[in-house]
Amino acid sequence: MEQSIEKINEKANYCLSCKTKMCMKGCPLENNITEFIKCVKEKKYEEAYKVLCKTTVLQPICGRVCPHKSQCEGACVRGIKGESVHIGELEAFVGDMAIEKGYEIEKFTSLKKNEKIAIIGGGPAGITAAANLARNGYNVTIFEKYNKLGGILRHGIPKFRLDERVLDKQIEKILNLGIQVKYNSILGKDIALKDLQNNFDAIFLAFGANVSSKMNIEGEELDGVYGGNELLEFENHPDYTGKNVAVIGGGNVAMDASRIIKRLGAKSVKVIYRRSEQWMPAEKKEIEDAKKEGIEFLFQNNIVKIIGNKNVEKIECIKTNLVKKEGEAREVPVDIEGSNYMMDMDYVVMAVGSRTEKELVESLGVELTKRGNIQIDEKYMTSEKGVFAGGDLSGTKATVAWASRSGREASNNIIEYLEKK
Ligand SMILES: Cc1cc2nc3c(=O)[nH]c(=O)nc-3n(C[C@H](O)[C@H](O)[C@H](O)COP(=O)(O)OP(=O)(O)OC[C@H]3O[C@@H](n4cnc5c(N)ncnc54)[C@H](O)[C@@H]3O)c2cc1C
Repeated sequence: MEQSIEKINEKANYCLSCKTKMCMKGCPLENNITEFIKCVKEKKYEEAYKVLCKTTVLQPICGRVCPHKSQCEGACVRGIKGESVHIGELEAFVGDMAIEKGYEIEKFTSLKKNEKIAIIGGGPAGITAAANLARNGYNVTIFEKYNKLGGILRHGIPKFRLDERVLDKQIEKILNLGIQVKYNSILGKDIALKDLQNNFDAIFLAFGANVSSKMNIEGEELDGVYGGNELLEFENHPDYTGKNVAVIGGGNVAMDASRIIKRLGAKSVKVIYRRSEQWMPAEKKEIEDAKKEGIEFLFQNNIVKIIGNKNVEKIECIKTNLVKKEGEAREVPVDIEGSNYMMDMDYVVMAVGSRTEKELVESLGVELTKRGNIQIDEKYMTSEKGVFAGGDLSGTKATVAWASRSGREASNNIIEYLEKK
């Protein structure tokens, strides 16, 4: 990611500083992109950082891992006729510069408030909410399951995509705002929502939804079938040496799991996706990188059965046709009758979607959606007064920037709630 100042200037000068600011509309956090790039053009890097800090505290992270082509860069006017501005690289440059030079995240007020807020989960939603509340003078405590913060940024996105040192330094910068953290504190085990309600003025639930969905197909219970989210979170891999692995799905989890498994020595890794390449939810760059690394893609194929005695031995797949259906944004895959075929396989990784931890969300006594997410109103409040929720667990579009936005918006609503109390 490190680039010379000359290259960065070239990339910044490519921005037209257009008045329509389409890039800003494409950014879930609504970062003032043209304005920060203007500062970069003028080599006013601290100013650029201040502009970004108005809406985000995750610059070096979003600069690296956001799906830029479907967010800011996808909306860039330059992209209509050619290449879009490399907004992500410019954001990461400013974020890295802030770490290196020690630019601080400015507080919005120096006044200290008395109210205490508990945040459950230190992923993008939780740390953004904590930062916003601390910047507004509130006492914030994050309760985090692990001994480090970051959520999926640490326990999901591989280190070859997001350098852990960058993550550590950015989190340190955020915690310097005066945020307390209780590590190794698990909601539902070490702490109960009721206790938090008795001891805090407001609560923000942000413990994510990092449980792999199942397909409920025959053989899914066999040894050697893994959930992609769990494989990446717990790094509890089997020995892949000389083995054939099928990864089912087409999103981030499928891409990261397949690339890691290949790096860990698998003989072959096949990504099986029921639609065509253009419909894959994963970022184009991730798909291209995976191809370069030797991952095979079976588009318009679906798994129907996993076969084996105790362990996975074979999988049965079927080919699909794509049909347009009214009311569906994407083409719908339809199995082609009689196109079934078998493949020898040693491991199957399910990466077909993520959901919340059922037992935990059901134990909280708050209303849930049909999909098992925590139900929130337009102010991010759950059915329990003073208990707010955001990020993946509330069904927000599952990207870092959307989770962060929900943390920011929810915390603004917490402030409004506390001021009216
Ligand atoms: C493998 C993978 C790759 C991804 N790649 C990208 C990408 O490249 N770009 C992108 O924009 N998005 C990506 N995403 C999506 C993105 O990471 C998520 O949308 C985002 O992290 C959600 O943030 P969150 O704060 O809601 O939850 P999380 O990041 O899941 O954070 C939840 C936090 O809560 C903690 N926690 C959980 N349970 C408890 C408990 N009971 N008590 C206390 N703490 C608890 C967790 O340890 C964690 O720290 C990826 C997701 C995955 C799974």
